[in-house]
Amino acid sequence: MKPAIYLTRGREKSLQRRHPWIFSRGIERVKGEPQLGETVDVFSHKGQWLAKAAYSPNSQIRARVWSFEKVEIDQSFFEKRINDALVLREDVIERDGLTGFRLIAAENDGLPGVTIDKFDNYLVCQLLSAGADRHRDTLVKALLVVFPDCNIYERSDVAIRKKEGLEEVTGVLHGAMPPANVWIEENGIKIGVDIENGHKTGFYLDQRDSRQQSMKYVKDKEVLNCFSYTGGFGLYALKGGASRVINADVSQPALDKAKENAIENGFDISKKRAVFLNADVFKLLREYRDQGTKFDVVIMDPPKFADTKAQLNGACRGYKDINMLAMQILKPGGTLLTYSCSGLMDQNLFQKIIADAAVDAGRSVKFVERFEQAADHPTDTAYPEGFYLKGFACKVL
Ligand code: SAH
Repeated sequence: MKPAIYLTRGREKSLQRRHPWIFSRGIERVKGEPQLGETVDVFSHKGQWLAKAAYSPNSQIRARVWSFEKVEIDQSFFEKRINDALVLREDVIERDGLTGFRLIAAENDGLPGVTIDKFDNYLVCQLLSAGADRHRDTLVKALLVVFPDCNIYERSDVAIRKKEGLEEVTGVLHGAMPPANVWIEENGIKIGVDIENGHKTGFYLDQRDSRQQSMKYVKDKEVLNCFSYTGGFGLYALKGGASRVINADVSQPALDKAKENAIENGFDISKKRAVFLNADVFKLLREYRDQGTKFDVVIMDPPKFADTKAQLNGACRGYKDINMLAMQILKPGGTLLTYSCSGLMDQNLFQKIIADAAVDAGRSVKFVERFEQAADHPTDTAYPEGFYLKGFACKVL
């Protein structure tokens, strides 16, 4: 029997608007015994065919739509999705001469649970859903048709897989083990990516545009780059003529790589110009404030503080705290470049938090520029959750 799911009355509406998620509470009955990640037909309460979806028996998101058309979910389906993704990125890849970009942004590219970043000739896959996991081999075959010369590596070492009933896995899917550094170039800056051990797939490609925009604020300035990871904003600050850049992070491997990246780019990293500091940003900001150490520019690009709605309140306090401290250690007229990659916090809420931080810091603060994720991280109109990264440039008087 072909497995199928029937939705409760009214639950077809979001699918008709092409939102790809089907929650367990929206399902009236399941026909057959679909296995973990198996493709099921989705019908409305009245028996109208709606979509093909991947079944996920352990997850609240019980099924994720592969297609709203009656197509087979096979290799040619994946090839089409990959080619579509490439077409919609062609202009930005060309314009910015990208050798590292997000090829597949999951739901936003019609492949729920599938994230693929391309770093030079390495494709790095993160498979987060049962459906994505089940189609691993087919996906690899499809990728090799589009990119015959690429190596493929999996970085599905993400705790969220547990919710889908999946173990964490990593390893070579095709070709060679990645070397310690796969070099990419963005906006004329060389960046070494450690695919095997780096965070996520190895590098935060989504901040590329914001990093470039940050350059106009740094010339001859003293810059504090909080949550620096492998250099990111700090490398751009050096390129943009900052007089001094302090990169702070709790990850020593990330800081080592940041230094290596700076050297590879030929930047002057004498003690006077660049510092790579292993420190907890929350403590460091308080120390600077208490000592009266001031900066011209503070960059604040923390990791995601909220994974669930239950964590959102705590996340708000965290964002307010670090941004208040950042304002307090800025010289009058200084610039705060601040970001939030927590999708649950929308731009309005983030703006309010910055406003609260300004009140607590006792400073007059103006928003002067807004930022969002780079174009290779698109948001599907049917999936507003795809817009997760936002930022502001603020002038702090
Ligand atoms: N701005 C970076 C990406 C930052 S990712 C870029 O452009 O590439 C977030 C970073 O925050 C990670 O490197 C992580 O190690 C670091 N981190 C997490 N908690 C921290 C803390 N309390 N103090 C300092 N760094 C922290």
